[in-house]
Amino acid sequence: MGQMAIEISDLRMTYRARRGSVRALDGLDLAGPEGGVFGFLGANGAGKTTTIRALVGHLRGTRGSIQMLGVEIPAAINNVIDQVGALVETPSFFPNFTGRRNLELLARSRGFPRNRVSEVLDTVGLTERANSRVATYSLGMKQRLGVAAALLKDPALLILDEPANGLDPAGILEMRNLLRRLGHEGKTVFVSSHLLSEVQQICDRVAVVDRGRCISTGTVAELLQGGPSMYRVRVPGPDREQHLAASVLQQAGFSVYADPDGQMVVQVSVEEASRVTKTLADAAIYIEELTPIERTLEEAFLELTQPSGEHAT
Ligand code: ATP
Repeated sequence: MGQMAIEISDLRMTYRARRGSVRALDGLDLAGPEGGVFGFLGANGAGKTTTIRALVGHLRGTRGSIQMLGVEIPAAINNVIDQVGALVETPSFFPNFTGRRNLELLARSRGFPRNRVSEVLDTVGLTERANSRVATYSLGMKQRLGVAAALLKDPALLILDEPANGLDPAGILEMRNLLRRLGHEGKTVFVSSHLLSEVQQICDRVAVVDRGRCISTGTVAELLQGGPSMYRVRVPGPDREQHLAASVLQQAGFSVYADPDGQMVVQVSVEEASRVTKTLADAAIYIEELTPIERTLEEAFLELTQPSGEHAT
């Protein structure tokens, strides 16, 4: 892993609410490398928005430290603000102005060159609709205009809070392609999401946040590898043989289930797969098929975030 774009250490954040306090972040540690798309994954209320608001300097943690592009946040945020683009809430634009005009106004107010507007419109795929009023845009187009606004400064790091929220499937696809492209082009994209399938499809690395703590981090593949896996087991012969095999495996301590087609499924860790074969062979049952069933990130996520004993079977 190269240099870190974002490093968070022991971040704590407590909100004071009318009915007592809410601990939104409870010692969050996180390291996001430079380049590529980094997914910040968690259920509603896990602490994603709070973390992002702390990153962009909208709020200060009650404890812990944040480094962004090598500088201390919030103390030295002014040193990196030119290199960080963020889309934290649904951006507000003038609905009766065109997308292009909105960006031109923003560019002028912040001193960016005017030709940058055409470039970012092109990057987010809005060139054709740039001269239509924003009021006529779909939500997905408005979100992409928001990304275009965040890109005006040509940031090294782009931070997006749930950019796919509320989008229809076409909008989600466009956003997905855009973020992937930006990541491939060398930007660091830090994107929060509660949509596991989204993260699985666009992110190079992922951190899973649960109740204000980071409970797992790594590449999507690493996350999928950890924990127990499911194997489909087929033995030759009639149903009686299947039942016998299932009870032999159960007696040996394996968790045995049936899949929707009635096929026997065994839950074992990767290293234990060969023990399935041996256990059955010792009972003179010879396996016809032992196939790993790919876990989805959703299953990995549920295993991580559910207290033990509540795993779905
Ligand atoms: P979501 O996907 O629903 O936006 P999230 O992962 O972004 O969730 P946060 O918005 O960071 O989570 O919220 C973390 C916790 O802090 C939640 O329990 C939330 O109710 C609480 N919280 C957030 N903002 C405030 C606030 N301003 N005052 C009090 N509690 C808050």
